[in-house]
Amino acid sequence: LAERTVDLLITNGVLVTMDGRQTVLDGASLAVQDGVIVGVGADLDVAAKRTIDARGNAVLPGFVDAHMHECLLRGYAEDMPLMQWLERICFPKDRAYEPHHMRAAALMGQLEMIQGGITTFIDIFRYPAQAAQVAEASGLRAIFSPQIIESTPGAGETVESSEAFVREWRDRVPGRIFAWFGPHAPYSVSPEGYRRIRELADRYEVGIHTHLCETAGEVELIQNQYGCSPVEHLDRLGVLGPDCLAAHCVHLSERDVELLVERDVAVAYNPASNMKLASGVAPVPWLLEAGVRVGLGTDSNLSNNNLDMFEDMRLGAMLQKLHREDAAALPAQQVLEMATLGGARCLGLQDQVGSLEVGKRADVVVVDLHTAHMWPALHGQDSNLVEQLVYSANANDVLTTIVDGKVLMEDRQVITLDPVEIEDTVRRAAEDLIEKGGIRSARLQSV
Ligand SMILES: [Zn+2]
Repeated sequence: LAERTVDLLITNGVLVTMDGRQTVLDGASLAVQDGVIVGVGADLDVAAKRTIDARGNAVLPGFVDAHMHECLLRGYAEDMPLMQWLERICFPKDRAYEPHHMRAAALMGQLEMIQGGITTFIDIFRYPAQAAQVAEASGLRAIFSPQIIESTPGAGETVESSEAFVREWRDRVPGRIFAWFGPHAPYSVSPEGYRRIRELADRYEVGIHTHLCETAGEVELIQNQYGCSPVEHLDRLGVLGPDCLAAHCVHLSERDVELLVERDVAVAYNPASNMKLASGVAPVPWLLEAGVRVGLGTDSNLSNNNLDMFEDMRLGAMLQKLHREDAAALPAQQVLEMATLGGARCLGLQDQVGSLEVGKRADVVVVDLHTAHMWPALHGQDSNLVEQLVYSANANDVLTTIVDGKVLMEDRQVITLDPVEIEDTVRRAAEDLIEKGGIRSARLQSV
């Protein structure tokens, strides 16, 4: 590395590498060339075209949001019973979505993700080309798995529209923007639909993202309809495999967990969403023990209501502790791993992102430690940094966000998107969606 001039050097940081050996490097630097990490260490002697002084702050791999929907509305029609909320608010609203609503939602979501240190996400929602175009500009790493819904026509994408999207986008921005299939759930997509999606996913060599076993009601419904659990149902259809990422998996039998292990299916844990929608508690320690790949997801603005991975780490740990009545359940290191390398494994991107190691893509965030709620910041053998990141930090602590070595935000100034313009675009699009969805009266009735 010596005598070389690299593109970017981040100096004077506390590097939380997530390299599998829990390595934390004090006063260390990270060197980036052509979007790739080329040096990590305390004594990098290298010149750089651009230097970012981390000023003693934490430097960690960007978060991987393993399940989210880029929805436009939030905070509108809250605290309703689930079925009433879905039928009177969500489905009418989803049917009213037009491409410009999706564009506004993607601008808002991707701005929030850059500000909160998410560098890779998988989105399952509507008009994927709109969202993918925003990702071209925002610089984030993204997988789009357009949400296919057959049971409520017009509320989602179709197998045909998804195939067209996969054809158009799977090689358009290589290594940074990916296209998958996103069948919504076993109760909204038919067995024929799932079979067809498996065929297409094999043909195009892309993944499948679906919701699975989110509520007790879903398990009962599928049991009545098909005589088996939702996991067994998808297995009988030949859907399950290592390219499959299932969101939630809250209600699982022993046989279900065996199947997830046998088929090497990855799972996204969404604690905030599971709590807000009263879905239940995913058996995450059990899944991890069984060897299932588990990532952490925010789920949508409707069921969270933010894209703050710090908050989901904190809630995710606390929910398991409360549920199991065991304060030792799901410790901080394991939660931080789920939010970074674990998510990367779920998306098949573990060789590219998820840790700060030489050879990986330079997806890096700098987190402010010079703020009272992060004190005392202890070093060396007393280091409490991982615990502080999980239990004390929040999205506002992110200073700088980098993807592929490109700086998307520095010192809280977002570079690739314009927050002022987006704020206005989002408000106007949301008012229009409320109007066109005709959901104002249903909301007022519920208040
Ligand atoms: Zn979801």
